[in-house]
Amino acid sequence: MTTTQHRTSFVFDFAEGSREQSDLLGGKGANLAEMTRLGLPVPPGFTITTTACRSYLTTGEVPPGLADEVAAHLGRLEQELGRELGDADDPLLVSVRSGAKFSMPGMMETILDIGLNDRSVHGLAKHSGDEHFAWDSYRRLLQMYARTVLDVPDELLHAAMAPQYGVHGVATPEELPTAAIQSVCAALKAVIAHHSGREFPQDPREQLELAINAVFRSWSTPRAQLYRRQENIPDDLGTAVNVMAMVFGNRGPDSGTGVAFTRDPASGEPGVYGDYLQNAQGEDVVAGVRNTIPLIQLQGIDADSYEKLMAAMNKLELHYRDLCDIEFTIERGRLWILQTRVGKRTAAAAFRIAVQLVDEGLITMDEALARVSGTQLSQLMFPRFDSSHDTAVLARGVAASPGAAVGVAAFDSATAQRFAAEGQPVILVRRETTPDDLPGMVAAEGIVTTRGGKTSHAAVVARGMGKTCVCGVATLTVDPEARRAVTPDGEEIAEGDLLSVDGLAGTVYRGRVAVVPSPVVAFFEKGAESNDADELVTAVDRILRHADQVRTLGVHANADTPADARRSRRFGAEGIGLCRTEHMFLGERRQFVEELILAEGPAEQQAALDRLLPLQRADFTEIFTAMDGLPVTVRLIDPPLHEFLPDLTDLSVRVAVDHVQGRIDPENDRLLAAVRRMHEANPMLGLRGVRLGIVIPGLFALQTRAIAEAAAAVAAAGGDVRPEIMVPLVASEQEMRLVRSEIEEVIATVAAETGQQVATRIGTMIEVPRAALCAGSIARSADFFSFGTNDLTQLTWAFSRDDVEATIFPRYLENRVFAVSPFETIDPNGVGRLVRIALAEGRAANPDLVVGVCGEHGGDPRSIEFFAAAGLDYVSCSPFRVPVARLEAGRATVTASSSDTR
Ligand code: ADP
Ligand code: MG
Ligand code: MG
Repeated sequence: MTTTQHRTSFVFDFAEGSREQSDLLGGKGANLAEMTRLGLPVPPGFTITTTACRSYLTTGEVPPGLADEVAAHLGRLEQELGRELGDADDPLLVSVRSGAKFSMPGMMETILDIGLNDRSVHGLAKHSGDEHFAWDSYRRLLQMYARTVLDVPDELLHAAMAPQYGVHGVATPEELPTAAIQSVCAALKAVIAHHSGREFPQDPREQLELAINAVFRSWSTPRAQLYRRQENIPDDLGTAVNVMAMVFGNRGPDSGTGVAFTRDPASGEPGVYGDYLQNAQGEDVVAGVRNTIPLIQLQGIDADSYEKLMAAMNKLELHYRDLCDIEFTIERGRLWILQTRVGKRTAAAAFRIAVQLVDEGLITMDEALARVSGTQLSQLMFPRFDSSHDTAVLARGVAASPGAAVGVAAFDSATAQRFAAEGQPVILVRRETTPDDLPGMVAAEGIVTTRGGKTSHAAVVARGMGKTCVCGVATLTVDPEARRAVTPDGEEIAEGDLLSVDGLAGTVYRGRVAVVPSPVVAFFEKGAESNDADELVTAVDRILRHADQVRTLGVHANADTPADARRSRRFGAEGIGLCRTEHMFLGERRQFVEELILAEGPAEQQAALDRLLPLQRADFTEIFTAMDGLPVTVRLIDPPLHEFLPDLTDLSVRVAVDHVQGRIDPENDRLLAAVRRMHEANPMLGLRGVRLGIVIPGLFALQTRAIAEAAAAVAAAGGDVRPEIMVPLVASEQEMRLVRSEIEEVIATVAAETGQQVATRIGTMIEVPRAALCAGSIARSADFFSFGTNDLTQLTWAFSRDDVEATIFPRYLENRVFAVSPFETIDPNGVGRLVRIALAEGRAANPDLVVGVCGEHGGDPRSIEFFAAAGLDYVSCSPFRVPVARLEAGRATVTASSSDTR
């Protein structure tokens, strides 16, 4: 440690930091420091902290002292390298690179070749002995600087360069002869002067200072903001800035640049993997404009650098104990490592790599569990294309991000957004993507590009978003202006044509290809008998089993039908946390409910109830049998009764028309009167849940009798049945008492009738704020609580979900009223507070109280973490979310006991 560290606060040498400091130094800076400490060949430099950026973003000015610190660090760098920034004779050049705590590929700006000016370009030419290289570097600086620092639009820059392309018959600037590049530089400087009202700064120090500020500002560009929203990265972190001595991959055939992964980030396959571009600068690879060669071919070009790279990759993987993603450059046979990070990967790769690392002895099962996520598991549970389909392949490319996407072709971002807004699934087809295409990529189901490889922008971003992507489909010619693409034999794809994209095979098809369930789902369905499991399925299974071992949170399923009950059991559910009974009143049974509502007097009512009883009993018998040995929580009827009656308007019209035509149907008149009587202005706040049970005598008793008789029958047949009866919408202790005594009476009667004593627990949903606040008293009459977080969220926020999600939420999300919809992830401070209060007061009043959650939040990864931390007994979610919940419950245990570094 040097003494400067005590004095400085905004700037750190690469040699001073470490990977733990990503809050302060950003991910890139922290890893550059780590690699420097490891003795890897990193060009020297220093990092300006995120603190400085945050200060700049709030005040609009660089914090006092920063300029001095930068000057001091630059001075040391110059001393170390024996060259001065922008020196006319032998200039030191630097890059100014953004790097936030979380990687945001391509979202912020980096400027290369700072230090070149009208004089130093000659010095660089002389010392490198390569005039073309020197002028092309100056051209790159002018271009990046104009764009990033001075906000000159790309079109103007392109227009300044294009005439020379025509003259020399080339497509890219670096192919131009030196004299032409010199003219291009002059043209770029003229555009800069004209557009920004000032000359391109010739003073290298000023170049550096303005570039640093521009990188700070790039934190706030719309595309960076969109990316953060998409990835749930907080908006107030700011970026660090890395100033690094330039190295050059564009010095001829013995130079080059590339990206390497220590394992395949798409499949998880071990082995060398990456792209290399000879005689090029780093930014040429990510741009995806030139076609790269596979990394393995570097061995034949420069065996020595290849060996060194392999050694560096090995060192990094052992050190980080994870897949590393590396940027490197070779300058005239000398290898430089410019960046590393723990690499992004597909869901499949995440599971496979985690288990590989366990088997290689690098990490524990706990760590493996912490490194995968429920979101990734749910991606693996998506369907894929049926492998036996015989649709002819339209075009082939690089399998960049797996998945099976079917949608209509859109050739630009705006069209993709428009189609998606109309409800059409979209395939975005582009030559290559840039950060400007991000909204279209978000809107699309799948992405197809004609250029670039697995490390192109399209591939990296698609993998991050879990979207299907095929890159480098070279045989397709895309014409975005004409809104079409053409194959070599002239077949045309027009905008709106249906395409199917297989991201695993890298193929594109015309029309709709049939999809089949994922192998992971197939494995869950078959259960332990399946022995044809592939490596991925085995990896998922091993990690899930470990999650089951460590987790303390139970996982139940929401299942209303015997089929769902059986499936949830195969998927690992330990009970049914919510069995809704509403559907048991729909379809052909609806007329019985009508009769019940229209009944005049107790006799008619009883007759209607008697008709419903055997039907309900049969439903419950099948579910109890499917869940033998596990608890089944049956919720008594919840929605307003009018939902079972005809619509008021429809019926009014029908009756009115009848009357006009002189037809009188007394049944319809009676029905209309009943519908009118029951009509409510706010049905969701009206006659529903426990209120129905109290207002319509016999309704809950009927349901209870059906449950109790079914339970007795299953028990008599030797089954182990564990029924639980759950009362919805309770807000007060007295409601619970009334209903409980009715339920207990029926259970006792059935026990006496059947001779079967079935222990039946009686509890309530906590879905009304008052219930949460009065949980202590309610718990005296309840054996269990189950948080109905959907209603609890609606009632706590006073949001009618169906009304607000489309109209209000987009604005709320944009304005950060919340970062994620409270219906998706539990609102920890508001609704979550009610959960904690009810849990604490309920348990205090009744120590045996079992507490679960049955809202949709029960299947949401971040909410599960909350429920585990709060100390609930179980979560209940839809059958397909059960494996996700098991995984997340396990992760909640292991990440709570270690600080999660992901
Ligand atoms: P991003 O975060 O978008 O990848 P980087 O800061 O990594 O941006 O820089 C963009 C490209 O420029 C990368 O390919 C990187 O390797 C290259 N680059 C950055 N600094 C230097 C340097 N000092 N010398 C040579 N190439 C560099
Ligand atoms: Mg980079
Ligand atoms: Mg509810």
